[in-house]
Amino acid sequence: MSKPSRIAIDGPAASGKSTIGQRLADRLGYLYFDTGVMYRAVTWACLERAVPIDDEEAVTRLANEVHIDVVRPTVDDGRQYTVLLDGRDVTWDLRRPEVDANVSPVSAYAGVRAALTEQQRRIGAGGRVVMVGRDIGTVVMPDADLKIYLDAVVDERARRRYCEMMARGEQPSYETVLQMMRRRDMIDSMRAAAPLRPAPDAIILDTTCMSISQVLRAIENLMCPVEEK
Ligand code: C5P
Repeated sequence: MSKPSRIAIDGPAASGKSTIGQRLADRLGYLYFDTGVMYRAVTWACLERAVPIDDEEAVTRLANEVHIDVVRPTVDDGRQYTVLLDGRDVTWDLRRPEVDANVSPVSAYAGVRAALTEQQRRIGAGGRVVMVGRDIGTVVMPDADLKIYLDAVVDERARRRYCEMMARGEQPSYETVLQMMRRRDMIDSMRAAAPLRPAPDAIILDTTCMSISQVLRAIENLMCPVEEK
């Protein structure tokens, strides 16, 4: 099997997509692209400009107006990339709890998805890319060379997100993190437009009891089976 050029990684929140995606991209020398930040950036733009999240028309208009750039890290503070919203660095704003709470309803709007999917497809068309999200294997790059769907039980995913937040100096309650995660899972998988689900030809990996290096090894074995190495 030749090395896949376009790799899609999908899965629910905190299933390991961003850590695995970034490391895989680094090892292959590919571009790492986290599509979740685009939905987060539109959500943050709505919150900043006081656009009501339930006003589909206004949210969609804003998604078509704002300019989102994802570039290499411009500050050495643990970030994976820098996100610019109309030229302003909003990288950490996108991780705020109010963005977590509102991003799934924003992402469910078909017009928002159309605006962002088009940009993601353009980025994917260049190849040598690891793109992560919810609908990469099903909608954005249905012809990707390799499709991975990472999953893990919700309690473990909530535990991972809780630890990440504590490490950033926040003091969330585990129960709240768990509830928010359940709510996002439900909205992301029940929505009509590009719901969260594995592509029929995706390889599903349950990472609940796997370490990061075990997941990476499993994916590398898929690209280059052990006996061929
Ligand atoms: O991956 P992350 O948690 O940053 O994604 C934030 C939200 O963006 C998800 O909960 C989902 O609602 C939305 N999203 C999406 N499609 C993608 C990536 C993210 O709907 N491809």
